Parts: sequence; structure tokens; C-alpha cells
Amino acid sequence: MHHFDPSTEIQDYLVFGEYGDVNPSITDSSTYTFLSPEKMKELFDHEVEGCFLYSRHWNPTNKYLADALARLEGSEAAIVTGSGMSAIACSILQVCNSGDEVISGRTIYGGTYALFKNLLPRFGITVKFVNTQDLEAVKESISEKTKIIYCESVSNPLLEIADIPKLSEIANENNIKLVVDNTFSPVIISPVHLGAHVVVHSLTKFINGTSDCVAGCVCSSNEFIHQLMDINSGTAMLLGPVLDSHRAASILKNLHSLHIRIEKHSANALYLAENFEKLGLKVYYPGLASHGGHKVLKEIMNEGFGYGGMLAIDAGDEKTADALMNKMQEEKVGYLAVSLGYFKTLFSSPGHSTSSEIPKEEQQKMGLSEGLVRISIGLDNNIHKTFERIKKCLVDVGLLKA
Ligand code: PLP
Repeated sequence: MHHFDPSTEIQDYLVFGEYGDVNPSITDSSTYTFLSPEKMKELFDHEVEGCFLYSRHWNPTNKYLADALARLEGSEAAIVTGSGMSAIACSILQVCNSGDEVISGRTIYGGTYALFKNLLPRFGITVKFVNTQDLEAVKESISEKTKIIYCESVSNPLLEIADIPKLSEIANENNIKLVVDNTFSPVIISPVHLGAHVVVHSLTKFINGTSDCVAGCVCSSNEFIHQLMDINSGTAMLLGPVLDSHRAASILKNLHSLHIRIEKHSANALYLAENFEKLGLKVYYPGLASHGGHKVLKEIMNEGFGYGGMLAIDAGDEKTADALMNKMQEEKVGYLAVSLGYFKTLFSSPGHSTSSEIPKEEQQKMGLSEGLVRISIGLDNNIHKTFERIKKCLVDVGLLKA
């Protein structure tokens, strides 16, 4: 276990409003007045602490959220963006030039896969997909053109666990950056503390937790965040994925209950995973000793937040998976929907939704079955009752004997 307590870090980050309000004031402006033209010129030349120029660049409300997220990850600095995808795209494009290479895990979110496979090559950036569980394969695929190793700390949808300390060692030996998507495991895993150079999140998921907006962030060194925001060459500044300040304010308020929500998501998921396993189902959950990533997760996780709220079960084939999801929606177990980290359980079949960008033969290679159902476990107060409901669904679709 790793001893870092992100929840206390966030709790100790205090910002007040103009009148000592317990929530910081929301900046409802796109631009800022200057007392003199000289002051404005100064700000174009270099950043001045506490001065703001234009809200695509920096905005006080976005800065509060970014600073809180830097606390969460234990990074020097952070920026917030309009989506998780823009956080990923801006980070990669900031580091890589035409001719450079990225080494990426194979089991990643389908949107990220499509960006890497289809879009980046148009700008001369090549991505090699490797099994990042196999550290020798990672080492072997590095060339002098490699600039980044990219992975998800808990991968989507198979929930493989990245050995971040070892990947960081490889990255450091080769003078390249380790970029980690920590969307599935906020507070549980702290990649910066384990040696990652850049951490990205889709805030859309657990961090916001209310499924009412799309947002993202990048947490990294002061130097890298300044590069992203540079008015002449920063991808976040010039591609312009700015988050609206009202959203930043609401995400900041939700961030304060993140640790409690994650504990509950994790406890519910562990209960279900253990009971599914007892029923003889094929379950993927890193909290189970039978999961390939269990040992590594135990070594790198922070104490007290559990093993996460995501699990997957293999229903065998597509037809049974579809029938099971239909039944679970009927029985009010949750919603048939993509995304994750909501109070209600959400489920989808990755092969035909969030991972559908990955070609079928690739899906087979990574062990992604046609019958896989990915479930984001909700905040159900009575998880025993939920389990009974799911059992009924399993019987109805023939996965369990009555
Ligand atoms: N990373 C992971 C692991 C995801 O699951 C997702 C979205 O589903 C993203 C990144 C992209 O985030 P967003 O939808 O906020 O752009």
C-alpha cells in the first residue's frame, strides 16, 4: 500500500469567495480589464501571479479547480479542459512532433484508441500498441523516435492494472514521458507519486460524479502546464478546449465528496464481484485475488478507498450480454448507458459501444469477449437487494440455474 491521502490534500485546500464565502466566487467573464496598457503588455510577455488576461487562457474559477486537482494527484500544477479527450490530445500533441512515436497500452478507451490509430498519423505521429502488462515488450518497442509511454492506470474495459513504478523506470531510462489516464481510479491510485510525468482525467466520470457535464484535466509539473498554456505554442491555449467557469465551480463542489463516493462504489463493487465469483461467473474485478492485476494494485494503491467501482462480467456471447442488460434495466438495477461514476449503476457492452473503435481482431487479441458487460457500480445503499435483483436477471437469461 502506498501512503498518500488525496482526500485530506483536497480538504486542506482552502479557497474563499470575495466576502469570505465558503465557496469561491464564480468568474463570469471572458475578459479582464487592465489599469494601464503597460500592465497588459507585461502579461503578454510573461505570466503575472494573480493577473488574468482572457478566459481561454486562464480563469480564476478554472484555476481553483485545477489547483484542487493538482492536490488530488500530488502534482505541481494542473489545467482543466472541456473534455477528457481534449486533455489527452493536448498532452500528446504538446510533446510529439511529426516523426515522433508513442507507445500505448492496447486496452485503452475506444475514443483514445481512435485518436491514436486514425488521427495522430495524419500529423506524422505514429502509435505502437503494445501489451503494457509485458514490460519486456514495452522496452523492446522503444526507439529513438519514442517520446511517450501512454497507459490507463486501470484499463478500460478489462481493468488491467498498470505497473506505474516499473513503467516510470523504463520511461526515465529512455528520457521519455509516462502519461497515465487515471479516470477509473481517482484517489485510489496516485500516478504522480508512483513516477508518472503527466496524469490525465476525464472529469466526466467519477470525479464529477453527477453525469451532468463533460470535462477533463491534465496534472503535471509547473513546466509542462506552462507549456500547455503558452500563448504562442501551447496546445491547450491554441486548440482552445476551455471549460466553462460555471461547470468548473460545480465540479469543484462535487470533488469534495469524491473520497466518500469512491469508498461506496468500491465497497459495492467488491461485494458484487465476490458474490458473482461464488456463483461461478467469469468476473473481472481487480479487488479479487483471481484478477491478474490484484497483486500490483495492492502494492500501488492508496489506503482506504477500495479497489474501484468498475467491474466486468463475461456473459459468453453477444446475445446473452444484450439479454442480460435488457433485464437489468427492466429490474431497475441501473441504466443501459455508456460512461461511469454515476450514483446509478451504468452498464454497456464494450465490444459494441465504448471499444467499438477497436477492430474485432484486435479486441480478440486483447481478450475482449463479445459477451463482456462492463458495469459501473452505483452508490446503492442496499447492495444485497441489488445482488438479488441481478441474480434474478442471471436466471432469466440462463446464466444461472434457478
Ligand atoms: N479516458 C477514459 C478511460 C474514458 O473512459 C473516457 C470516456 O469515456 C475518456 C478518457 C474520454 O473522456 P471524455 O468523454 O470526458 O472526453
